[in-house]
Amino acid sequence: MLVATILAAQCTDVRVNMVTPRLFRRYRTPVDLAHADPDELEAIIRSTGFYRNKAKNLIGMSEAVVERFDGEVPASIRDLVSLPGVGRKTGNVVRSVAMGLPGLPVDTHVTRLSHLLGFTEETDPVKIESVLDPMVPARERGDFSLRLILHGRRVCVARRPKCGECVLADFCPGSMV
Ligand code: SF4
Repeated sequence: MLVATILAAQCTDVRVNMVTPRLFRRYRTPVDLAHADPDELEAIIRSTGFYRNKAKNLIGMSEAVVERFDGEVPASIRDLVSLPGVGRKTGNVVRSVAMGLPGLPVDTHVTRLSHLLGFTEETDPVKIESVLDPMVPARERGDFSLRLILHGRRVCVARRPKCGECVLADFCPGSMV
């Protein structure tokens, strides 16, 4: 999950899912990935874009997991964001989706919907997360983020929100109906 989320930056989930089977067959453990040849790794992940940086981060992240965390991806957000290539969004995805722990990833959809729905005017994702966290029970934060992301993809689309079809239109301050 951590590797896939690092690869997902500026890339579609569909593309990431096309790359990961071969990647995970070639590198089965954090130790394998930590010792990867950069050129070979870059070739495997090339189609996900920004592949040089991603390869560097994947190797650095794996080295850190092996050296500092005994080969196990750490669970605390503080430890997660200490890994190369891992920011709060990635850390919260891993916590909420892979570990079942509280984590509210703030992406472009969560940011946009938080503004439209009047939750906050903050633009910094870390600040938005700190505003949303107290509003949502800890165990529901991951699902809440996923719901906003799906709503942003399917209904409240960036250029032309479908307010006429939106179940939130009655109380959304950003509604255009
Ligand atoms: S009412 Fe319109 S602006 Fe508000 S969340 Fe729904 S689609 Fe988005």
